[in-house]
Amino acid sequence: MPREQDELMRRGIGMTSQRTRERLIQRLYEEGLSNAHVLETIRRTPRHLFVDEALAHRAYEDTALPIGHNQTISQPYMVARMTELLLAAGPLDKVLEIGTGSGYQTAILAQLVERVFSVERIQVLQDKAKERLAVLNLRNVVFRWGDGWEGWPALAPYNGIIVTAAAADVPQALLDQLAPGGRLVIPVGAGDVQQLMLIVREEQGFTRHVLDAVRFVPLLNGPLA
Ligand code: SAH
Repeated sequence: MPREQDELMRRGIGMTSQRTRERLIQRLYEEGLSNAHVLETIRRTPRHLFVDEALAHRAYEDTALPIGHNQTISQPYMVARMTELLLAAGPLDKVLEIGTGSGYQTAILAQLVERVFSVERIQVLQDKAKERLAVLNLRNVVFRWGDGWEGWPALAPYNGIIVTAAAADVPQALLDQLAPGGRLVIPVGAGDVQQLMLIVREEQGFTRHVLDAVRFVPLLNGPLA
């Protein structure tokens, strides 16, 4: 690589360019993601602001990256996939997110639904996520430091719930907090590889769809300072 370009890359400018973002979108499209609103939102959301500066040059690779505290920012493919599944039956007004992490998935959702309620167990991660969303002027998000296994009962029901950490079992509280017709997208399983599931609340009972094999960090117990 020419020296000048190398220098730009190191400073995180090259890899955060519009062209690099376009390449990512093209790749997601080729991998079968087809919701134009979701792809457009990913295109215009600066993922490099959601990782440490030292990793900014990798922000538009289709890969999960470390965000500290043993956690990761989700892979763009997975963010797009889960968001598409959530929105597949039409627009949503109230969405609960479990696992704020860097706030990247939160930022994508905030641009596609009316209101987002986001629960995270690690307070410092949530504080950083809050700052990032403020910088991006995304104001329709409310954060809560707490245990995602419990959802956020006070504000239930939700039309959509998305969980960005793998649950050993589907948390009963989340099923309870789904509105009729509401959709829950969640990786389920206790091992390294889990199953992405879509669960829809019907008039009576739930319909469960078992989808892709995925890899998420685990949904842990209890809030943490
Ligand atoms: N969507 C985030 C993914 C972060 S990784 C992003 O793209 O940045 C999963 C997140 O779930 C971590 O931040 C982790 O702290 C959080 N988490 C794990 N168990 C949790 C629980 N029981 N309640 C709330 N958040 C939890």
